[in-house]
Amino acid sequence: MSYKFLDLPQLVDRRSQLASKGNLSKRKTALKDLVRVWHHSLTLKHLSGSTAIGFANYHVNTLGWERVGYTFVIEPQNIIDTPKGKRARIVYANNVLDRSYHVGNSNDFSLGICVAGDYRYDQLDDATLASMVDLHRALKVDKIGKEDKSHHEMPGYAWKQCAVFDYAKALNFKPNQPVDKSLPEVYVVQQGDTLWGLAKNDSRFTVEDLMKWNNISDPSKLQVGQKLSFKESKVDTKPTAKTENSQNNTTSIVDYLNSIGVDSSLTNRKKIAKQHGINNYTGTAAQNIQLLNKLRSTTVPKAAAPKKEYVVLPASAQTWRTYKLGVAPVAKNSDWSLTPAAFGGLTYEILDRPQPNVVTINTSRGKRNIYVGPDTSAKFS
Ligand SMILES: [Zn+2]
Repeated sequence: MSYKFLDLPQLVDRRSQLASKGNLSKRKTALKDLVRVWHHSLTLKHLSGSTAIGFANYHVNTLGWERVGYTFVIEPQNIIDTPKGKRARIVYANNVLDRSYHVGNSNDFSLGICVAGDYRYDQLDDATLASMVDLHRALKVDKIGKEDKSHHEMPGYAWKQCAVFDYAKALNFKPNQPVDKSLPEVYVVQQGDTLWGLAKNDSRFTVEDLMKWNNISDPSKLQVGQKLSFKESKVDTKPTAKTENSQNNTTSIVDYLNSIGVDSSLTNRKKIAKQHGINNYTGTAAQNIQLLNKLRSTTVPKAAAPKKEYVVLPASAQTWRTYKLGVAPVAKNSDWSLTPAAFGGLTYEILDRPQPNVVTINTSRGKRNIYVGPDTSAKFS
Protein backbone atom coordinates (compact mmCIF):
# COMPACT_ATOMS: atom_id res chain seq x y z
CA MET A 1 0.00 0.00 0.00
CA SER A 2 1.51 3.30 -1.03
CA TYR A 3 0.36 6.43 0.69
CA LYS A 4 -0.19 9.77 -1.00
CA PHE A 5 1.79 11.55 1.71
CA LEU A 6 4.92 9.69 0.60
CA ASP A 7 4.78 11.69 -2.65
CA LEU A 8 5.14 15.05 -0.91
CA PRO A 9 8.41 16.49 -2.22
CA GLN A 10 9.29 17.92 1.19
CA LEU A 11 8.82 14.59 2.98
CA VAL A 12 11.73 12.36 3.92
CA ASP A 13 11.30 8.85 5.30
CA ARG A 14 13.63 8.56 8.31
CA ARG A 15 11.91 5.65 10.02
CA SER A 16 14.95 3.42 9.77
CA GLN A 17 17.49 6.10 10.72
CA LEU A 18 16.14 7.64 13.91
CA ALA A 19 17.23 6.45 17.36
CA SER A 20 15.32 3.35 18.47
CA LYS A 21 15.45 0.70 21.17
CA GLY A 22 12.95 -1.76 19.85
CA ASN A 23 9.60 -1.91 18.12
CA LEU A 24 6.29 -0.22 18.87
CA SER A 25 3.05 -2.19 19.06
CA LYS A 26 0.64 -2.11 16.15
CA ARG A 27 -2.50 -0.05 16.55
CA LYS A 28 -5.83 -1.74 17.03
CA THR A 29 -7.70 1.29 15.70
CA ALA A 30 -8.16 1.45 11.93
CA LEU A 31 -6.33 4.27 10.13
CA LYS A 32 -9.59 5.87 9.01
CA ASP A 33 -10.74 6.23 12.61
CA LEU A 34 -7.63 7.92 13.97
CA VAL A 35 -7.52 11.41 15.44
CA ARG A 36 -4.73 13.53 13.94
CA VAL A 37 -3.21 15.20 16.98
CA TRP A 38 -1.16 18.37 16.52
CA HIS A 39 1.76 19.11 18.82
CA HIS A 40 4.54 21.57 19.00
CA SER A 41 7.88 20.55 20.46
CA LEU A 42 8.16 23.31 23.09
CA THR A 43 11.74 23.77 21.91
CA LEU A 44 12.50 26.95 19.94
CA LYS A 45 12.43 26.15 16.26
CA HIS A 46 15.90 27.46 15.43
CA LEU A 47 17.66 25.34 18.07
CA SER A 48 19.79 22.52 16.71
CA GLY A 49 17.82 19.89 18.65
CA SER A 50 14.46 21.01 17.21
CA THR A 51 14.39 18.22 14.66
CA ALA A 52 13.09 14.67 14.39
CA ILE A 53 16.61 13.44 15.22
CA GLY A 54 16.73 15.59 18.35
CA PHE A 55 13.31 14.46 19.56
CA ALA A 56 14.09 10.80 18.83
CA ASN A 57 17.35 11.02 20.79
CA TYR A 58 15.54 12.56 23.73
CA HIS A 59 12.61 10.12 23.72
CA VAL A 60 14.78 7.04 23.29
CA ASN A 61 17.96 7.89 25.18
CA THR A 62 16.54 10.04 28.00
CA LEU A 63 12.95 8.86 28.40
CA GLY A 64 13.75 5.25 27.47
CA TRP A 65 10.94 4.84 24.94
CA GLU A 66 11.33 2.39 22.04
CA ARG A 67 11.01 5.16 19.47
CA VAL A 68 10.25 8.85 18.98
CA GLY A 69 6.76 9.83 20.09
CA TYR A 70 5.41 11.26 16.82
CA THR A 71 4.50 9.78 13.47
CA PHE A 72 5.46 12.98 11.63
CA VAL A 73 7.76 15.85 12.54
CA ILE A 74 7.67 19.12 10.61
CA GLU A 75 11.01 20.94 10.78
CA PRO A 76 10.85 24.73 10.16
CA GLN A 77 14.65 24.95 10.23
CA ASN A 78 14.94 22.71 7.17
CA ILE A 79 13.41 24.53 4.22
CA ILE A 80 13.04 22.69 0.93
CA ASP A 81 12.43 24.23 -2.49
CA THR A 82 9.59 22.34 -4.10
CA PRO A 83 7.77 22.97 -7.38
CA LYS A 84 5.00 24.54 -5.30
CA GLY A 85 7.32 26.83 -3.38
CA LYS A 86 9.28 26.71 -0.12
CA ARG A 87 8.25 24.04 2.35
CA ALA A 88 9.40 22.98 5.81
CA ARG A 89 10.75 19.44 5.74
CA ILE A 90 8.39 16.72 6.94
CA VAL A 91 10.06 13.71 8.55
CA TYR A 92 8.17 10.44 8.45
CA ALA A 93 9.33 9.12 11.83
CA ASN A 94 7.11 6.16 12.73
CA ASN A 95 4.98 3.86 10.62
CA VAL A 96 1.40 5.15 10.62
CA LEU A 97 0.30 1.66 11.72
CA ASP A 98 2.47 1.78 14.85
CA ARG A 99 1.23 3.08 18.16
CA SER A 100 3.69 5.72 19.37
CA TYR A 101 3.59 7.63 22.65
CA HIS A 102 2.27 11.18 22.59
CA VAL A 103 -1.16 11.33 24.23
CA GLY A 104 -1.11 8.67 26.97
CA ASN A 105 -4.29 6.62 27.05
CA SER A 106 -5.35 7.94 23.66
CA ASN A 107 -2.27 6.73 21.77
CA ASP A 108 -4.00 3.82 20.06
CA PHE A 109 -6.47 5.98 18.18
CA SER A 110 -4.22 9.03 17.76
CA LEU A 111 -1.57 9.91 15.23
CA GLY A 112 0.96 12.46 16.43
CA ILE A 113 2.16 15.29 14.21
CA CYS A 114 4.75 17.53 15.81
CA VAL A 115 5.55 20.96 14.43
CA ALA A 116 9.01 21.72 15.78
CA GLY A 117 9.13 25.01 17.66
CA ASP A 118 7.86 26.64 20.80
CA TYR A 119 4.86 28.58 19.61
CA ARG A 120 4.48 30.45 22.87
CA TYR A 121 7.42 32.43 21.43
CA ASP A 122 7.91 31.28 17.82
CA GLN A 123 5.70 32.21 14.89
CA LEU A 124 4.45 29.73 12.32
CA ASP A 125 6.17 30.74 9.08
CA ASP A 126 4.69 30.29 5.63
CA ALA A 127 6.86 27.31 4.67
CA THR A 128 5.80 25.50 7.85
CA LEU A 129 2.13 26.38 7.42
CA ALA A 130 2.30 25.16 3.83
CA SER A 131 3.78 21.83 4.95
CA MET A 132 1.08 21.44 7.60
CA VAL A 133 -1.54 22.04 4.91
CA ASP A 134 0.14 19.68 2.44
CA LEU A 135 0.51 16.87 4.97
CA HIS A 136 -3.03 17.33 6.23
CA ARG A 137 -4.43 17.21 2.71
CA ALA A 138 -2.42 14.11 1.81
CA LEU A 139 -3.50 12.28 4.98
CA LYS A 140 -7.11 13.03 4.15
CA VAL A 141 -6.64 11.66 0.64
CA ASP A 142 -5.03 8.57 2.21
CA LYS A 143 -7.99 8.27 4.57
CA ILE A 144 -5.69 8.41 7.57
CA GLY A 145 -7.63 10.02 10.38
CA LYS A 146 -11.17 11.29 10.68
CA GLU A 147 -10.59 14.57 12.53
CA ASP A 148 -7.96 16.92 13.94
CA LYS A 149 -7.29 17.90 17.52
CA SER A 150 -4.68 19.74 19.49
CA HIS A 151 -2.79 17.86 22.20
CA HIS A 152 -4.60 19.89 24.87
CA GLU A 153 -7.96 18.81 23.47
CA MET A 154 -7.20 15.15 24.22
CA PRO A 155 -8.62 13.53 27.37
CA GLY A 156 -6.62 14.51 30.47
CA TYR A 157 -4.40 17.09 28.72
CA ALA A 158 -6.44 20.28 28.96
CA TRP A 159 -3.66 21.76 31.12
CA LYS A 160 -0.98 21.09 28.50
CA GLN A 161 0.50 24.06 26.60
CA CYS A 162 0.45 21.99 23.44
CA ALA A 163 -0.11 22.87 20.73
CA VAL A 164 -0.53 26.58 21.47
CA PHE A 165 -1.04 27.43 17.81
CA ASP A 166 -4.54 27.31 16.34
CA TYR A 167 -4.28 24.22 14.13
CA ALA A 168 -7.67 24.84 12.53
CA LYS A 169 -6.61 28.30 11.45
CA ALA A 170 -3.20 26.99 10.38
CA LEU A 171 -4.78 24.29 8.23
CA ASN A 172 -6.78 26.98 6.45
CA PHE A 173 -3.57 28.65 5.35
CA LYS A 174 -3.46 29.27 1.61
CA PRO A 175 0.12 28.79 0.48
CA ASN A 176 1.35 31.41 -1.96
CA GLN A 177 1.60 29.86 -5.35
CA PRO A 178 4.73 30.74 -7.30
CA VAL A 179 3.92 33.71 -9.54
CA ASP A 180 2.56 32.51 -12.84
CA LYS A 181 4.75 33.96 -15.58
CA SER A 182 2.96 32.24 -18.41
CA LEU A 183 1.58 34.51 -21.07
CA PRO A 184 -2.11 35.36 -20.82
CA GLU A 185 -4.49 34.38 -23.60
CA VAL A 186 -5.36 38.01 -24.10
CA TYR A 187 -3.54 41.12 -22.98
CA VAL A 188 -5.45 44.38 -22.67
CA VAL A 189 -3.31 47.37 -23.65
CA GLN A 190 -2.75 49.76 -20.76
CA GLN A 191 -1.85 53.43 -20.65
CA GLY A 192 1.71 53.93 -21.78
CA ASP A 193 2.15 50.48 -23.35
CA THR A 194 4.06 50.23 -26.58
CA LEU A 195 4.71 47.08 -28.58
CA TRP A 196 8.39 47.71 -28.10
CA GLY A 197 7.92 48.08 -24.34
CA LEU A 198 5.91 44.85 -24.14
CA ALA A 199 8.44 42.87 -26.15
CA LYS A 200 11.49 44.34 -24.44
CA ASN A 201 13.27 41.87 -22.13
CA ASP A 202 10.89 39.06 -23.03
CA SER A 203 12.49 36.35 -25.12
CA ARG A 204 9.13 34.79 -25.95
CA PHE A 205 8.05 37.29 -28.58
CA THR A 206 9.23 40.26 -30.60
CA VAL A 207 7.59 43.44 -31.82
CA GLU A 208 7.23 41.77 -35.23
CA ASP A 209 5.49 38.80 -33.60
CA LEU A 210 2.97 41.06 -31.89
CA MET A 211 2.36 42.95 -35.12
CA LYS A 212 1.88 39.76 -37.05
CA TRP A 213 -0.22 37.92 -34.49
CA ASN A 214 -2.49 40.91 -34.05
CA ASN A 215 -2.53 42.12 -37.62
CA ILE A 216 -1.04 45.45 -36.64
CA SER A 217 0.56 47.40 -39.45
CA ASP A 218 1.13 50.61 -37.52
CA PRO A 219 2.34 50.11 -33.95
CA SER A 220 1.76 53.79 -33.23
CA LYS A 221 -1.98 53.16 -33.42
CA LEU A 222 -1.98 51.02 -30.27
CA GLN A 223 -5.07 51.97 -28.26
CA VAL A 224 -5.60 51.73 -24.52
CA GLY A 225 -8.07 48.86 -24.00
CA GLN A 226 -7.09 47.14 -27.25
CA LYS A 227 -6.78 43.37 -26.91
CA LEU A 228 -3.51 41.73 -27.92
CA SER A 229 -2.83 38.07 -28.48
CA PHE A 230 0.55 36.74 -27.35
CA LYS A 231 0.45 33.86 -29.73
CA GLU A 232 -0.23 33.14 -33.33
CA SER A 233 -3.99 33.26 -33.80
CA LYS A 234 -5.85 30.35 -35.33
CA VAL A 235 -6.61 32.44 -38.36
CA ASP A 236 -2.91 32.86 -39.00
CA THR A 237 -1.66 29.39 -38.17
CA LYS A 238 -4.24 27.51 -40.20
CA PRO A 239 -3.14 28.68 -43.63
CA THR A 240 0.48 28.27 -42.57
CA ALA A 241 -0.01 24.60 -41.92
CA LYS A 242 -2.33 23.99 -44.83
CA THR A 243 -0.43 25.70 -47.56
CA GLU A 244 2.90 24.19 -46.76
CA ASN A 245 4.35 23.04 -50.07
CA SER A 246 1.10 23.98 -51.73
CA GLN A 247 0.97 26.02 -54.89
CA ASN A 248 -2.69 26.52 -54.39
CA ASN A 249 -3.06 29.86 -52.70
CA THR A 250 -4.04 33.27 -53.80
CA THR A 251 -2.25 35.55 -51.35
CA SER A 252 0.59 37.40 -52.96
CA ILE A 253 4.03 37.57 -51.39
CA VAL A 254 3.58 41.32 -51.05
CA ASP A 255 0.31 40.93 -49.13
CA TYR A 256 1.86 38.25 -46.99
CA LEU A 257 4.88 40.34 -46.04
CA ASN A 258 2.69 43.36 -45.40
CA SER A 259 0.46 41.29 -43.15
CA ILE A 260 3.39 40.38 -40.94
CA GLY A 261 4.78 43.90 -40.96
CA VAL A 262 7.80 43.13 -43.11
CA ASP A 263 9.02 45.51 -45.81
CA SER A 264 7.67 44.08 -49.09
CA SER A 265 9.77 46.17 -51.45
CA LEU A 266 11.56 44.32 -54.24
CA THR A 267 14.90 45.13 -52.63
CA ASN A 268 13.86 43.52 -49.37
CA ARG A 269 12.19 40.57 -51.08
CA LYS A 270 15.51 39.92 -52.85
CA LYS A 271 17.24 39.77 -49.47
CA ILE A 272 14.62 37.46 -48.01
CA ALA A 273 14.68 35.24 -51.09
CA LYS A 274 18.44 34.89 -50.83
CA GLN A 275 18.15 33.94 -47.15
CA HIS A 276 15.78 31.19 -48.24
CA GLY A 277 18.03 29.81 -50.93
CA ILE A 278 16.28 31.43 -53.89
CA ASN A 279 19.09 33.04 -55.82
CA ASN A 280 18.58 35.46 -58.73
CA TYR A 281 15.17 36.45 -57.44
CA THR A 282 13.69 39.05 -59.73
CA GLY A 283 10.08 38.94 -58.61
CA THR A 284 8.61 36.67 -61.28
CA ALA A 285 5.23 35.05 -60.50
CA ALA A 286 6.82 31.62 -60.12
CA GLN A 287 9.50 32.96 -57.79
CA ASN A 288 6.88 34.78 -55.74
CA ILE A 289 4.92 31.58 -55.19
CA GLN A 290 8.12 29.74 -54.36
CA LEU A 291 9.14 32.38 -51.84
CA LEU A 292 5.67 32.57 -50.30
CA ASN A 293 5.61 28.82 -49.75
CA LYS A 294 9.07 28.90 -48.23
CA LEU A 295 8.06 31.61 -45.80
CA ARG A 296 4.82 29.92 -44.88
CA SER A 297 6.54 26.62 -44.19
CA THR A 298 9.08 28.31 -41.96
CA THR A 299 8.04 27.63 -38.39
CA VAL A 300 9.47 30.87 -37.14
CA PRO A 301 8.58 33.47 -39.76
CA LYS A 302 10.49 36.19 -37.99
CA ALA A 303 13.71 34.38 -38.87
CA ALA A 304 12.82 35.04 -42.48
CA ALA A 305 12.89 38.76 -42.04
CA PRO A 306 16.18 40.61 -42.14
CA LYS A 307 17.31 41.98 -38.82
CA LYS A 308 15.23 45.02 -38.20
CA GLU A 309 16.12 48.29 -36.62
CA TYR A 310 13.70 50.46 -34.73
CA VAL A 311 13.65 54.07 -33.82
CA VAL A 312 12.15 54.93 -30.45
CA LEU A 313 10.62 58.36 -29.93
CA PRO A 314 10.44 58.62 -26.14
CA ALA A 315 7.43 59.67 -24.12
CA SER A 316 9.27 62.83 -23.13
CA ALA A 317 8.75 64.16 -26.66
CA GLN A 318 5.42 65.96 -27.08
CA THR A 319 5.58 66.19 -30.87
CA TRP A 320 7.85 64.99 -33.65
CA ARG A 321 7.71 66.50 -37.13
CA THR A 322 7.19 64.27 -40.15
CA TYR A 323 8.19 64.93 -43.73
CA LYS A 324 6.93 63.49 -46.94
CA LEU A 325 9.52 61.40 -48.74
CA GLY A 326 11.72 63.38 -51.08
CA VAL A 327 11.53 66.75 -49.34
CA ALA A 328 14.25 68.31 -47.21
CA PRO A 329 13.56 67.66 -43.51
CA VAL A 330 13.34 71.29 -42.48
CA ALA A 331 10.49 72.74 -40.42
CA LYS A 332 8.76 74.56 -43.25
CA ASN A 333 8.44 71.28 -45.19
CA SER A 334 6.82 69.36 -42.34
CA ASP A 335 3.36 68.05 -43.18
CA TRP A 336 2.33 66.59 -39.85
CA SER A 337 3.52 65.69 -36.34
CA LEU A 338 3.63 62.49 -34.36
CA THR A 339 2.76 62.75 -30.66
CA PRO A 340 5.04 60.34 -28.76
CA ALA A 341 3.97 61.63 -25.32
CA ALA A 342 0.35 60.75 -26.01
CA PHE A 343 1.33 57.10 -26.55
CA GLY A 344 3.89 56.73 -23.80
CA GLY A 345 6.52 56.81 -26.52
CA LEU A 346 6.37 55.52 -30.10
CA THR A 347 8.44 52.86 -31.78
CA TYR A 348 8.77 52.46 -35.52
CA GLU A 349 10.62 50.08 -37.72
CA ILE A 350 13.27 51.89 -39.74
CA LEU A 351 12.39 51.23 -43.35
CA ASP A 352 15.11 53.31 -44.90
CA ARG A 353 17.81 55.85 -44.12
CA PRO A 354 17.55 58.30 -47.02
CA GLN A 355 20.21 60.59 -45.57
CA PRO A 356 22.26 60.87 -42.38
CA ASN A 357 20.06 61.40 -39.28
CA VAL A 358 16.86 60.90 -41.27
CA VAL A 359 14.88 57.67 -41.23
CA THR A 360 11.82 56.52 -43.13
CA ILE A 361 9.03 55.02 -41.09
CA ASN A 362 5.51 53.82 -41.76
CA THR A 363 2.97 56.04 -40.00
CA SER A 364 -0.80 55.96 -39.99
CA ARG A 365 -0.58 58.47 -42.86
CA GLY A 366 1.82 56.32 -44.80
CA LYS A 367 5.58 56.44 -45.16
CA ARG A 368 7.20 59.53 -43.73
CA ASN A 369 10.70 60.70 -42.98
CA ILE A 370 11.61 61.97 -39.57
CA TYR A 371 14.75 63.68 -38.35
CA VAL A 372 16.51 61.66 -35.62
CA GLY A 373 19.85 63.43 -35.24
CA PRO A 374 21.98 63.18 -32.09
CA ASP A 375 20.50 66.51 -30.95
CA THR A 376 17.10 64.80 -30.63
CA SER A 377 15.95 62.31 -27.98
CA ALA A 378 15.46 59.53 -30.55
CA LYS A 379 16.87 56.16 -29.59
CA PHE A 380 17.53 53.09 -31.67
CA SER A 381 17.08 49.41 -31.02
ZN1 LIG B 1 2.10 17.75 22.63
